[in-house]
Amino acid sequence: MKKKIAILGSTGSIGQASLKIIKNNLKEFNIFLLSGNSNQILINAQIKKYKPKVFVINNFAVYKQIKKKYKNKKIKIYNKFSHIPLSLTKLDITISAIVGIAGLEPTIQFIKKSKKILLANKETIICGWHIIRNLCKKTKTKIIPIDSEHFSIDQLTKNFQDKDIEKIYITASGGPFLNRSLKSFKRIKASDAVKHPKWKMGKKISIDSSNLMNKVLELIEAYRLFPFNPKKYEIVIHPQSLVHAIIIFKNGQTKFLYHETDMRIPIANAIYENNFDIQNILKRRKDILKNFEKFKFKRVDKKRFPIVTLLPKYFNKNSGPIILNASNEVLVSKFIDGKVSFKSIYPTLKAVLGDKDFKKYAIKRSPSINDIYKIDRWARNKTIKLIEKKNR
Ligand code: NAD
Ligand code: MG
Repeated sequence: MKKKIAILGSTGSIGQASLKIIKNNLKEFNIFLLSGNSNQILINAQIKKYKPKVFVINNFAVYKQIKKKYKNKKIKIYNKFSHIPLSLTKLDITISAIVGIAGLEPTIQFIKKSKKILLANKETIICGWHIIRNLCKKTKTKIIPIDSEHFSIDQLTKNFQDKDIEKIYITASGGPFLNRSLKSFKRIKASDAVKHPKWKMGKKISIDSSNLMNKVLELIEAYRLFPFNPKKYEIVIHPQSLVHAIIIFKNGQTKFLYHETDMRIPIANAIYENNFDIQNILKRRKDILKNFEKFKFKRVDKKRFPIVTLLPKYFNKNSGPIILNASNEVLVSKFIDGKVSFKSIYPTLKAVLGDKDFKKYAIKRSPSINDIYKIDRWARNKTIKLIEKKNR
């Protein structure tokens, strides 16, 4: 039987990496649903090539054009995930790869229909983990994180408990500004920040990687996914991006997970549960021993990456991560539009988190979906106000 699969965010970097894996094994998969936002050329190309039964297109103008083009065809085109009929077929695998909190509701919707969910969308894990975890328990849906660091932690800590573990390092490449002079930080533009030296990724995560916000989000993601003492986690700079997590066990052993800097490796291993030959997807394999010679690890310089100092104070309040995430989504998009400077991202995040109204939103219980949106909206508005005040 073919595996029925849905890819939420198929036109993005993770979505396309997933399709590259599937492309070589099309006889094993039945591509049920793909989704995108505004890249009309790519949406058309994916419809032609993969013949999904359903395509969800978020941008209304693009949705209308595509819907018109395929009006006499079998494919169903929707503008919103919520427009898909409830009687939707059951799926084997869903890959959650929309960027930002926009992925939260589609992910929740598809957990209910899937045997297994591969989670790339970290913003959704950060904001909606309690909902996702409880729902997966209820529907017996298996969760596999595919963010490379989390995929590695998952693999390395299977069958171990908190009492067995001394330390967990999450690696960070350090991004494009690891060695740039601090004085020149005021001239950084979005076009510089998206040039990641090691990973080819979407714009938002590339910008988040350039100031280490991505690692802050990933630490919160790890606190959510794995029930270890948060104090055991630390970020370590590893410019080669070949080791993705390091676990020091109390029994004297240290394990790390190495794989080449290619997201297809965690994604494919999650799809096939480690049971396949990577040569089917990646034809050229580099000389691994040569890679080992290059390994370097160093501590994070907090002057260069002050964003990492935001972490300890806010992570354990349920609303802190939601506020941090929402404010950051706004700041990244304004930075791309040239309305916010690179250097003002950190102080603005700090100001929003330190706002006196924060307390009103610092709820103790696990947030419901309405709580999440309420907190998210407050943080977005607050951030926009601070940006406008600064630009006045
Ligand atoms: P991307 O920008 O390349 O792709 C995002 C996808 O989401 C696209 O398909 C886009 O059409 C869709 N999308 C954007 N806005 C939308 C909206 N409002 N509604 C519905 N769909 C929308 O991003 P990416 O790099 O593929 O990252 C996706 C997620 O995976 C992010 O949460 C990111 O942090 C995470 N992630 C990415 C990588 C990577 O290597 N790219 C690695 C680890 C984790
Ligand atoms: Mg990662």
